[in-house]
Amino acid sequence: MKKPILFTIIAAFALAFVVYQSQSGPVQKITGEAYAFTNVNVIPMTSEKVLPDQTVVIKGRTITLVAPSKNVELGDDVIEINGEGKYLIPGLAEMHGHVPPTDPPPNAPRYMNMQYVENTLFLYTAAGITTVRGMLGWPNQLELKDKVRNGELIGPNLYLAGPSFNGNSISSPEEAVRKVTAQKEAGWDLLKIHPGLSREEYDAMAIAANDIGITFGGHIPSDVGLTHAIEMGQETIDHIDGYVAYLNSFDEDERKQKMNEIIQITKEKNVWIVPTQALWETILGSADFDAMQKYDELKYIPKNLVSGYNSWAKRKLDSPNTNIEKAKEHASLRRDLLSEMNRNGVKILLGTDAPQLYSVPGFSIHREFQHMKQADMTPYEILVSGTRNVGEYFNGKDTESFGVIQNGKRADLILVNKNPLENISNLKDHSGIMVAGRWMSVADINNRLAMIEESYKEED
Ligand SMILES: [Zn+2]
Repeated sequence: MKKPILFTIIAAFALAFVVYQSQSGPVQKITGEAYAFTNVNVIPMTSEKVLPDQTVVIKGRTITLVAPSKNVELGDDVIEINGEGKYLIPGLAEMHGHVPPTDPPPNAPRYMNMQYVENTLFLYTAAGITTVRGMLGWPNQLELKDKVRNGELIGPNLYLAGPSFNGNSISSPEEAVRKVTAQKEAGWDLLKIHPGLSREEYDAMAIAANDIGITFGGHIPSDVGLTHAIEMGQETIDHIDGYVAYLNSFDEDERKQKMNEIIQITKEKNVWIVPTQALWETILGSADFDAMQKYDELKYIPKNLVSGYNSWAKRKLDSPNTNIEKAKEHASLRRDLLSEMNRNGVKILLGTDAPQLYSVPGFSIHREFQHMKQADMTPYEILVSGTRNVGEYFNGKDTESFGVIQNGKRADLILVNKNPLENISNLKDHSGIMVAGRWMSVADINNRLAMIEESYKEED
């Protein structure tokens, strides 16, 4: 039977209406105290996509809604942040950072006071770093973590490794086991491994740590070696440590194949890599020292710290052991390693070892981005290393979940002025940062940066 034409037209309209309704969804009214980023392009980092014209609602420390702006109506108590033409991305992480001691040792330099600790935390946050994995614990530092958590101090969410396991701090397997237990009980988040542990001490540490449920990461002690550390369950290998030494133990014609093999093992065992490429080129001696000594961001850290960097650099360049050609070869092998690891799906985490040599907290991530770019990482892959991967790494380690923009995630956000997926350097230009639901506009951030700069002009 032939349908009357009017019926067909009505049916078509009805269908169009249903489709329109399901796309637009019902309008939600936001009541009570909240923040809302409106008309913003959201880069949720769940996949490589941009959601245009969204409203993102935050209550307390948490994202409570991500929806098209036309479907959200804001109540009177909602503070609106206009995101038109801008991009909202999850906050970034410094996964190999340092937080200075709150109780400095007696021989510590004068600048190492509580003001310096607070400035350091602020510098991280000002760059959009909302999470720092502190890779060297100091006595009483865990209190600092609580002070940030309860809002007494502005700073990134802290996850702290305890005092380091190294050749000086550990003198027997028994001592290693005792200190693993003690650090777990004290509430440290992970164990930091430095060079100098014997294989027996390392194994005792690893077995005890795996047993009581605390992870360990950092360097690869030479007596342990890369493959053994991976077998024993080292969770993160920082500075790509141990890989070049491992590859150099083979003849040149075998190295390519060995590289592929070790990368596959790294991936299969779920080892995370924190490359810290920029810092390592400094340590190797292949970095551009003249350029580094002129970094503008050095004005935000104490002069004595900067002169310490500069005298280290002079000693490095004057040393008969420094061979620039060899250092450049080493650096290029590290670049190949990072490139191949990334291409093969090894999980990479953003880290710069701030505030080590010329890595000024916060600012140093932009230096590191350039090195990641040189290792063929796309802007999206670089962002993943500082956001989604970080959330995945901390999954189950924290009661809060973060690293992507989704309902229920911790409200760690950067309002970027231009699309960072087009150019990773666009991340330098932002309108403000939200850390665990606390909003800081770029004007507030710049004011405090100016105060920090001023305070270090006077210091001797
Ligand atoms: Zn470090």
